[in-house]
Amino acid sequence: MKRTTPRKSNNIKQESTKDFQWRQFCRLGEMIGDGLHNEEKWISREYRHLQRILLPETKEERKIKNDSINRQMEALLNKIPCKKCGSKLIQTRKGAKTAICTSCGIRYKAKTKNRKSYEKRTNNAGR
Ligand SMILES: [Zn+2]
Repeated sequence: MKRTTPRKSNNIKQESTKDFQWRQFCRLGEMIGDGLHNEEKWISREYRHLQRILLPETKEERKIKNDSINRQMEALLNKIPCKKCGSKLIQTRKGAKTAICTSCGIRYKAKTKNRKSYEKRTNNAGR
């Protein structure tokens, strides 16, 4: 994703975009309150997306979150080997919920919150 820094020239446009995002954010919040996100997956996706834009995490919050992810990942990786070859999996980078097999290179995405298991990812995605 491109990160654009707001310049003084288009303040007005910036403002209205943000207004729109806030309105949308509130609307999505209400929809989630009504339980609609259980059927419409895009609602929670869009909500999180806007949340990241409108309410960015502070460095401190991110560090706490990363630390907890790292701990969960470590516990998970010690317990579960690669489904294909049985080798050890390692975290792709600090704070990531993805793991990679040290032997065959298959990537896994950890679902640390919902299930204590791995979901196989398509290997060549984004390459
Ligand atoms: Zn493997």
